[in-house]
Amino acid sequence: MVLRMTVGLVLTAVALAVAGRRLWWLKRLAFSGQSAPERVAAVRAHPGRDAEVQATEVIGQRKLLKWSVPGAAHAATFWGFLVLLLTIIESYGDLFSRTFAIPGIGHWAAIGFIEDLFAVGVLAGLATFTVIRLRNDPHREGRASRFFGSHTRAAWVVLGMIFLVIATLLLYRGAQIDAGVFPYKHGAFASQIVGHWLHPLGSGVNSVLEAVFVLGQVGVVMAFAVIVVYSKHLHIALAPVNVLFSRRPDALGPLEPMRSGGKVLDFEEADPDTDTFGLGKIEDLSWKGLLDLATCTECGRCQSQCPAWATGKPLSPKQVILDLRDHAFAKAPWLLADSDEAREKLPEAVKAEAARPLVGKDGGVIDPDVIWSCTNCGACVEECPVDIEHLDHIGGMRRHQVLIESAFPVEAAGMLKNLENKGDPWGMGQARRAEWITELDFEVPVVDGTIGPGVEYLFWVGCAGALEDRAKKTTKAIATLLHTAGVRFAVLGPAETCTGDPARRIGNEFVFSMLAQQNIETLNQAGARTIVASCPHCFNTLAREYPQLGGDYEVIHHTQLLAKLVAEGKLTPVTPVKEKLTYHDPCFLGRHNKVYTPPRAILEAVPGVHATEMPRCKNRGFCCGAGGARMWMEERIGKRINTERIEEALALNPDTISTACPYCLVMLGDAIAAKKSSGDAKDTLEVVDVAQLLARSVPKRTSADGGADGTAAGREGPGAADG
Ligand code: SF4
Ligand code: SF4
Repeated sequence: MVLRMTVGLVLTAVALAVAGRRLWWLKRLAFSGQSAPERVAAVRAHPGRDAEVQATEVIGQRKLLKWSVPGAAHAATFWGFLVLLLTIIESYGDLFSRTFAIPGIGHWAAIGFIEDLFAVGVLAGLATFTVIRLRNDPHREGRASRFFGSHTRAAWVVLGMIFLVIATLLLYRGAQIDAGVFPYKHGAFASQIVGHWLHPLGSGVNSVLEAVFVLGQVGVVMAFAVIVVYSKHLHIALAPVNVLFSRRPDALGPLEPMRSGGKVLDFEEADPDTDTFGLGKIEDLSWKGLLDLATCTECGRCQSQCPAWATGKPLSPKQVILDLRDHAFAKAPWLLADSDEAREKLPEAVKAEAARPLVGKDGGVIDPDVIWSCTNCGACVEECPVDIEHLDHIGGMRRHQVLIESAFPVEAAGMLKNLENKGDPWGMGQARRAEWITELDFEVPVVDGTIGPGVEYLFWVGCAGALEDRAKKTTKAIATLLHTAGVRFAVLGPAETCTGDPARRIGNEFVFSMLAQQNIETLNQAGARTIVASCPHCFNTLAREYPQLGGDYEVIHHTQLLAKLVAEGKLTPVTPVKEKLTYHDPCFLGRHNKVYTPPRAILEAVPGVHATEMPRCKNRGFCCGAGGARMWMEERIGKRINTERIEEALALNPDTISTACPYCLVMLGDAIAAKKSSGDAKDTLEVVDVAQLLARSVPKRTSADGGADGTAAGREGPGAADG
């Protein structure tokens, strides 16, 4: 007994010392980052929500279980290890007393059964992981494998270690049964099977084996603990912390305001020499950003859903995180050195690593093409099981490139200049924003100073909706439908300016904040409270980003309002629209803001429409390629994202593709045009907003029925609003 106790405790002490040293180093590295007081404050403000998130995301494995087979395997392994904490207690007890049993419960047959059940569950999980890894071997599958770029050898080592944990456990328990010292008389079915195999060896040999296997169990568990803190399996310890401090539910939706030293940057007082402008070097990341890097499990779920990666671009959200992590670890001695003198004495390789720019073609940690390939679609954040916030990292690097280095795709310069000078990305000017109104046969009130009495909604038209020909058709359809439903609405007309979304998404926080402040002033002066936006990008910015600057409004998307009007019977689709169609989820409406049902409810209400879903839909929807200011950048690398999306739609042979976003309308429209000219799509195929489809089915009010004040009730034939 003394020998097994001594060996077991020495093994444990050595392992804990090695693991503890590593954890201390990791903590120092994390805290070398910028402070993030807002993350701590958010946790303190919502303890109930955080407990619920831990219960559903960490314990409940919600995100992992969205991938049914690997999710079930992970859940079995994770829950197994929670339950097997009991067996680890038992093995340590056995170091001191061969008849040890956990006080109170240590002889319950149910406990023995549950322990064995989960041990077998872990083995089943391991077998599943093995098959998944063999089927997705990156050496064979290349970029198609979600493990492409992951450290696969380390993953196999960890699977082997988990197997050894379970193997030594069952062997130790089997030998205990044969030696007559097993605490459970019944229930532990798997241990009994192993005991049956070992039985012929006799109780003397089994007594020796029991000592060997219990030390094996302790040794393997401790070795696993060390491997965990030195590998991607660090996520076992860090995932709950990363989930706790994530920007949930805002990691999708709004971008973070720019911060320096933990405070929101005030551009009037900011100094580029002393303040942090985005992410220019690894130490510009906050501790939460560094925690993200250390938490990545290399599962590749993000990579598998990324439209940029799927179309051959150099961007993989996983690889961004891994490259930043590798750089942070390699630069760590420089970051943790306590003086310039100490830094001077570091090896040349560390100094060279420390000198690398975060983004750069020559020697940069991240290639510029990587950050500029991102459409901000949010699929990576949506999928990540440990709540890593890729968009904050990519957005932060973009901000530094734009604001400090003035290095961004040249073709986007015109868009930024137009936003600054004319208030819209195309530079068409404020005066033309009201032209679409003249193309209607009823009056649309334009706010003159303040919103008039009785107006229920301010209709935020957006730059595309006011100025782009295809999107203008949607705008007119929405206005016509609101008019028909008797909704009192008004528009800002020439007083509206770009919300600033393209500027913010490209990284020009300065232009964003200028436009946002201007709009907030206009909206506040107008007395706006309830806004209906037709563009999901405007919708997201007005609803989720303007509160960061003091603009608080109730904002809904046009599909939400139209679906409500249909449900209330204020809009009644009657004219059949005999079309086979498929609906494309705009990323900023769907994934970023979780509006999936209203557009589908509208389509369902239109008689004659036969809607079929594309394989990639709802929260797995595939981007059109326009978000993240990509609309204003050339797509020079790989396949065009809009082409990839249209090919998915064409596989369903639809008559119409519907969507609910002017960006998507343009991108998908361009891809359809290209397919038509190559003879790969039928000439009648079109892409329309769901509002246009609804307008085709709802009888339109005549002009004689009055303005947008909802006072009249006359109707005429199906709407001509979609031109
Ligand atoms: S936001 Fe979309 S495009 Fe950008 S990295 Fe994530 S998945 Fe890829
Ligand atoms: S970032 Fe998240 S989803 Fe992507 S590989 Fe890492 S853990 Fe998996």
